[in-house]
Amino acid sequence: MNGDCLQVTVLGSTGSIGDSTLDVIARNPGRYRVFALGCGSRWQELLAQCRAHLPRYAVVADPAAASRLRAALRAENLAVDVLDGTTGLEAVAAHPDVDVVMAAIVGAAGLMPTIAAARAGKRVLLANKEALVMAGRFFMDAVAAGGATLLPIDSEHNAIFQCLPGGYRAGDRSPLVQRLLLTASGGPFRALAPAALAGVTPEQAVAHPNWVMGRKISVDSATMMNKGLELIEACWLFGMPAERIEVLIHPQSVVHSLVEFVDGSVLAQLGNPDMRVPIACGLAWPERIPSGATSLDLARAAALAFEPPDFERFPCLGLALQAARTGGSAPVVLNAANEIAVQEFLDGRLGFTRIAAVIGGVLDRLGSVEPESLDEVKAIDAEARASASCLIDAERRG
Ligand code: NAD
Ligand code: MG
Repeated sequence: MNGDCLQVTVLGSTGSIGDSTLDVIARNPGRYRVFALGCGSRWQELLAQCRAHLPRYAVVADPAAASRLRAALRAENLAVDVLDGTTGLEAVAAHPDVDVVMAAIVGAAGLMPTIAAARAGKRVLLANKEALVMAGRFFMDAVAAGGATLLPIDSEHNAIFQCLPGGYRAGDRSPLVQRLLLTASGGPFRALAPAALAGVTPEQAVAHPNWVMGRKISVDSATMMNKGLELIEACWLFGMPAERIEVLIHPQSVVHSLVEFVDGSVLAQLGNPDMRVPIACGLAWPERIPSGATSLDLARAAALAFEPPDFERFPCLGLALQAARTGGSAPVVLNAANEIAVQEFLDGRLGFTRIAAVIGGVLDRLGSVEPESLDEVKAIDAEARASASCLIDAERRG
């Protein structure tokens, strides 16, 4: 802490969530200071962010790209220290001068830096759901051991967090809560004829009707694996069994999720679909700060509709629900196989409807064990990736 100014590390700063985080920070000058920025490889974008925010550190996971950034910063006389690799990301997540860490790296790559922030007792703003899905128990243990404050940024989980009565403690189930209702837009293919799904392109899949997001999560929304991952995320964050979490299709994305209490009361959080709202909530909690989001106009929104999800159209949802119930390493395998299949789809090498088939195949092949350590989680993740690639190669050879 520097005076009243909170020092913030943004992991995944060049992505959609990272960009929105920097926007909220810029709207609240004097309250936050950017301590470090981190990304995968897009060093030119990081350079532009360094010019705007003058952080103490910039980290690029890819060492070659980090060297380029270092040279460019030196040429401009900007005093920013450049680090690289997972160790660099971990260092700026756990640095003693940091108060808040936005965990917004996409996929399993975000796991170890986010765990480092948790172990160091930071306020961890969790966007990177894959980290929690693959390593739930170890992640929550790190939060407890480090005395970290874990705040959900995923809009649904942030909504649930806001609806819970005071004193949310990460992972603790409130005895007052009967059920969680996770809303889902249904993505771009909610109403497409099922026969047309096999032929959809990556461009169609990433064109989400309500949210602008990174490519991986956009495909996850189109398959509804995103909601499956979120269901597992909710189990860990709120200490709820999968049986007490219901998925509800709500195409307008205005009601971000709901909590039903034992007396039958149901609380919901509403707002325009804009990730700056949960980001601002996480940054300032329990206070409130402007986020830049426009005001919700319910009269213009007209109808808010709700319907049950179609498990036949979206088999990934059923696979995730099954993995949540099985527990152990099943969510690790589910997440890893999904990351591989989605990348292959985005690269034009796998059909849309084959994504679920590959994930199902890898889950069948690897079964589930109870991982005893984070190293074991990483080994299972690697095995599931290899198995998914192998299945896809075999399919392509026909
Ligand atoms: P994105 O693709 O726009 O950005 C991803 C970021 O991760 C980039 O900064 C990229 O450089 C970084 N990255 C990728 N690989 C890396 C690596 N190996 N090492 C270090 N950094 C790496 O993704 P996004 O939409 O911003 O999503 C980020 C995370 O937030 C995801 O886990 C996603 O599920 C979650 N999330 C996003 C939204 C949203 O609206 N975008 C909503 C809820 C949750
Ligand atoms: Mg979400």
